Amino acid sequence: MTAPSLASVRALDAADPLAAFKAQFEMPESTIYLDGNSLGPMTKSVPEEMARAVREEWGQGLISSWNAAGWWELPLTLGRKLGPILGAADGQVVVSDSTSVNIYKTLQAGLAMRPGRPVIVTEGGGFPTDLYITEGAMQGRPDLSRRLLGENGADLDAVLDDDVAVVLLSHVDYRTGELFDMAGITARVQAAGAIMIWDLCHSAGIVPVALDACNVDLAIGCTYKYLNGGPGSQSWIYAAERHHGNIRQPLSGWWGHAAPFAFEQSYRPEPGIKAFLCGSQAILSMRALSASLDVMDGVDLNQVRTKSMQLTDLFITLVEQKCAEYGFGLFSPRDAARRGSQVALTHEDGYAIVQALIARGVVGDFRMPNILRFGFAPLYISHEDVWNAVAILKDIMDGGAWRAPEFAVRAAVT
Ligand SMILES: *Cc1c(COP(=O)(O)O)cnc(C)c1O
Repeated sequence: MTAPSLASVRALDAADPLAAFKAQFEMPESTIYLDGNSLGPMTKSVPEEMARAVREEWGQGLISSWNAAGWWELPLTLGRKLGPILGAADGQVVVSDSTSVNIYKTLQAGLAMRPGRPVIVTEGGGFPTDLYITEGAMQGRPDLSRRLLGENGADLDAVLDDDVAVVLLSHVDYRTGELFDMAGITARVQAAGAIMIWDLCHSAGIVPVALDACNVDLAIGCTYKYLNGGPGSQSWIYAAERHHGNIRQPLSGWWGHAAPFAFEQSYRPEPGIKAFLCGSQAILSMRALSASLDVMDGVDLNQVRTKSMQLTDLFITLVEQKCAEYGFGLFSPRDAARRGSQVALTHEDGYAIVQALIARGVVGDFRMPNILRFGFAPLYISHEDVWNAVAILKDIMDGGAWRAPEFAVRAAVT
């Protein structure tokens, strides 16, 4: 990239086909929000949608709203809205429960689809909950064991054999931002006879995804990051149609029953994707997600991807030009095609630098041991925002503002 100037950056914004989306997001004054990979901002449509759900549906409709306001069907309704974002034909996605819980369900469903195969594969450097839940899935099952990618240098070929039942991997690494080859890896896993489960927490809504075309078996992802569903909003599960009728998961609650209102004595799973449901959902939270997904309705994810690559490239170029002498390392792949929508830098004083940036309105986050993470969501981040964020970083480094003692104090949530 030739040295960018403020004029060239503004020209990119002037030609940006996604520029109009920014006005649909609530954003505090003087904030450049580069943490949508942790918690997406609120769309301006959310307060009204939630107020209506509270006043009319709950306040006036009371119990009739389970039918009249579509509460009962919301897991499927929201799944249908996610279909185009995930490259999934209708009827294969439901929204329900948390990502951690859904990882548990899909792991167990995958194990049940491959009886006699005792091994779970996941990545040693994966997101902690993914690792912890694989431990939970093995509890009380001394016959099961786990192989970790990256442990002793193990790659996929080293861990795949006839014993592997399921492979759980992140599409985009939460720390490095590396983007993996979904089609290729899925094919290799399936050639070994195993079930492929993708975790799309860091790619759904930001990278074009084609679950059907990649022949994925099962997938899960959260909705509060790039899908802007709000704090703790429910997660989604995808199960390819060929597996419907064969979904066995241990959280066999009544919402997944074939006839929930027959009140039968024994569990009988619904044959389709609803077999992944468990029990009653936080409907009000789902209304916030519904409003945010409506904003994304029809958005061209190829345009999102193009701009995302431009924003992350621009950030890397500017940091390397303007902050060259301050010892930042690039932890993300340099090649935009191998990167999701975040850039991770390393710096030994990363924690304090991130706090100093936040104090100046540039919100990123810090991950142990020395990683500064910045997420770039093209629907509300402009090229000029990137320019300004790096100018503020340079100012903090030039003046040493990050050395102030208050920036060294660690909060509970980093
Ligand atoms: C954010 C994230 C989760 C979150 O799990 P919750 O149950 O929603 O807290 C899980 N896995 C990955 C890879 C994530 O990035």
